[in-house]
Amino acid sequence: MPRIKKAEELIKQSDKPNPSITRLSKQPQLVKGMKDVLPHDQIYWEHIRSIVKKIGDDYLFMRIDTPIVEHLNVYTAGLGKQTDIVEKEMYSFTDQGGDNLALRPEFTAGIARAYIEHGMVSLPQPVKLYAFGPLFRHEKPQEGRYRQHTQWNCEVIGEGKPVVDAQLILLGYKLLTSLHIKPIVQVNSIGCRSCRIAYRESLVEYYRARRASLCDDCKRRLNKNVLRLLDCKVETCQSLISKAPPIVDSLCDACRDHFIAVLECLDELEIPYQPNPHLVRGLDYYTRTVFEFYAVMNTNESDVQSARMAALGGGGRYDDLIEMFGGLSTPAAGFGIGIERVVMKLKELEKASGTKLIPRRAEPEIFVAQLGEQPKRRAMVLYEDLLREGFTVAAEFAKDSLKAQLEIANKCNATLTIILGQKELLDGSIIIRNMGGGEQEVIDIKKLIPTLRKKLHGEQQKGG
Ligand code: AMP
Repeated sequence: MPRIKKAEELIKQSDKPNPSITRLSKQPQLVKGMKDVLPHDQIYWEHIRSIVKKIGDDYLFMRIDTPIVEHLNVYTAGLGKQTDIVEKEMYSFTDQGGDNLALRPEFTAGIARAYIEHGMVSLPQPVKLYAFGPLFRHEKPQEGRYRQHTQWNCEVIGEGKPVVDAQLILLGYKLLTSLHIKPIVQVNSIGCRSCRIAYRESLVEYYRARRASLCDDCKRRLNKNVLRLLDCKVETCQSLISKAPPIVDSLCDACRDHFIAVLECLDELEIPYQPNPHLVRGLDYYTRTVFEFYAVMNTNESDVQSARMAALGGGGRYDDLIEMFGGLSTPAAGFGIGIERVVMKLKELEKASGTKLIPRRAEPEIFVAQLGEQPKRRAMVLYEDLLREGFTVAAEFAKDSLKAQLEIANKCNATLTIILGQKELLDGSIIIRNMGGGEQEVIDIKKLIPTLRKKLHGEQQKGG
């Protein structure tokens, strides 16, 4: 059978209903708490990824990609058994081989595991790493809170000086400000293992006196891990948090000096911050500095209050984690910024200001239109030639009507449209249409590239 005949036969057959297909009784749907990032939003993501890459390069951070699946104990041991993430939110499962595994709910523990496992301690210290990817937490879904979200994470492992904490804050601040978001950093110190002993005692004493007002989780955590009471999101417990003894009063001299040095560095860098004496950041591995990024529309205090509900990111120092994992005593610090929330904030700002805050994809310089089967195939080759010459090009080869193609060219804001029909193909010419004014000219197809260059970039044709 000739090839074209055979193709026609196949097309005819595919039009008939397929008797072997069993339809699902219900259409597949997005899993609750998950989110599709649709094509029209990709510009935000691409732009953020490019900034993150630039910051990584500017500050000598190396990218690391750890697996989404880790052994469960990476998180139970690292984050703490009484944390919300481990107790309530982790996607954990036993696989076919009987291994207890979890989808990563955060980056730091997996990166600490990788640092030890790959002997990064033998690299020049500190090791500066960044990651970008999805995290999974079975939280109650709501605006800005998903069961899969994406974080940009930066970690500095192997250095304990306060300047590292401030530089990490600077990096997060830079991402946000380069996206026109006005950040404010809330910062606290939760001390080290030794100064936290006294603090825990004063906290237990404070909460014991108010036990009756606590939620069930807090009652349970009171004797096991009292610091976690400062993370509780239940309203009645929240009101107790604001009157709880501040940890800064219990800091040892070394931790207090460290905290002051971080704040002095932030002052020097002119990064706006607010000390928040009750910020503890929900995980057991933190030591000394903890911080969170919030966005403010303006510096009005009530805006700061409402922004408090939706942190864009956060992090802190975790000087004991590597040792807890069986490595050498290795100070470290890091932070993560939630990309979905940043994109939300960006769109909110664009809406409020009525301006596009990030660069849109470049509009095509040339739309390639065609009329007829042979010109269409020739135009497809021409499209490749134009790309190779560095032009931004668009076309819709599946459309036959010139009118429909010109409409698309208009919609995508092409500067010029070149039109190749049967006649042009025969006499070696091509039409160039200026989409602004609609005027057209016919030129020798051999002169197409220099003519386009001249029209679009003002370059002189070689040889006249
Ligand atoms: P965390 O690791 O909990 O400190 O979160 C760091 C940042 O990630 C937060 O400030 C949010 O921007 C983002 N984030 C955390 N959990 C979620 C979530 N469930 N949905 C969307 N973004 C999240």
